[in-house]
Amino acid sequence: MRIEQVEIYPNSWQKHGGSDYCMTATDAGDMLQVSGPDKTLFEGELVSDIKKTQCQSTDKAYKLCPLTVENSKIIRELFDFTRPKSHKGHDITIGLGDRLGLASAGHIRTIKDLDVFPVLAQQSMRELNLTGRTYADVLSSATWAVFREGYIKGYGADGDHLKTHEEIKTALDSGYTMITLDCSEHIPLGLDAVVKFTADVFNRHIRGKNIDFELSVDETQTVTTLEDHRYIARALKKEDVDIVSLAPRFCGEFQKGIDYIGDIRQFEKELKAHAKIADEYGYKISIHSGSDKFSIFPVISRLTGGRYHLKTAGTSWLEAVRVIATYAPSLYRQLHTYALENLPEARKYYHISCDLSKIAALEDTPDVRLPGYLNENDARQVLHITYGLMLQSRNGDGTLRFRDRIYRLLNEYEPEYISALEKHIGQHLTGLGIKKTGG
Ligand code: ZN
Repeated sequence: MRIEQVEIYPNSWQKHGGSDYCMTATDAGDMLQVSGPDKTLFEGELVSDIKKTQCQSTDKAYKLCPLTVENSKIIRELFDFTRPKSHKGHDITIGLGDRLGLASAGHIRTIKDLDVFPVLAQQSMRELNLTGRTYADVLSSATWAVFREGYIKGYGADGDHLKTHEEIKTALDSGYTMITLDCSEHIPLGLDAVVKFTADVFNRHIRGKNIDFELSVDETQTVTTLEDHRYIARALKKEDVDIVSLAPRFCGEFQKGIDYIGDIRQFEKELKAHAKIADEYGYKISIHSGSDKFSIFPVISRLTGGRYHLKTAGTSWLEAVRVIATYAPSLYRQLHTYALENLPEARKYYHISCDLSKIAALEDTPDVRLPGYLNENDARQVLHITYGLMLQSRNGDGTLRFRDRIYRLLNEYEPEYISALEKHIGQHLTGLGIKKTGG
């Protein structure tokens, strides 16, 4: 096979020992290019007629290496900046979940000059199941984006909403640096049962390691009261369990991909009190489903004293859908129709309150207005929660119905996807009032 190089990514040049590294766009997708002695370490194909711009190696042969999980492990062994790190000590940390494994480059370009530590690899078990991905694969995607963009300021990897010892072990074995323990199933048994489970997990998996341990009680039926929060904080301290953050279930609703629903005054009051408890016990408040919560971003920044963790994920998927709606209207129409047809199934995993009657009929909407669906809450929610069904849907002959086309299109329009993320995630960071580094 002859691979045509299209372009070398200018920020991807690295040296290690006597070897030169860069990443290159080819007609077969992005690849790692390695010259010198290190090339024996990677799986790939030896080639000789490759672009050598900036490359000082005298080596005649090069290896073009696919961006596999195995190759990413070697990259992480050799280049410290590509290894995920604990975010302890950073005041503002943001989870930038990337369900497709295509958004991290856009995320990096959005945050690279800002005073914020990104958690680029972040997936819950639910998301892994719905996307058909693995923790190793999610980390691999983040690693390659970090390498390609030459982003050396560090990033984290969060095994989000984990509920069992096995899940936690899988995430840690895959190199994850943050564990978000979901205690929602223990809450009905009483707070002592929570605390006991949390201490057990901490002692078995976390103690003595530099892992960011978050406790989440956000996916429970009832709002977390201040008394309960204080009780948990005190009990964890007594058990000598260190958490970096706690995600309460706040008043109002944090639905996916749309703004906060509820009484902002009440939220302000509760957030302030929760943040005070967290401060007192030395951890941060974590806000889940932080995508698109524009009306409360300024409040979050102010009332936490600029110390918080905020998680987003689905909004980056919706920006991918926006790119599809703009550049592939016929594929968008198929996805939209499929999403509406399969909504009842998706509602088993996600709680939303959209009103289908408010979504304009697809047949009355011309192609140029398709991206407009991504500006409407009801359509956003439908397109948001059906991602897993879309990605895994198969034709009668067993082939994937949408997945390959979605990936092909987004790879083709990657610069447009990056711009869309810079704009949309950028609006999140502006709303939070995040400053430039050193600014
Ligand atoms: Zn959550």
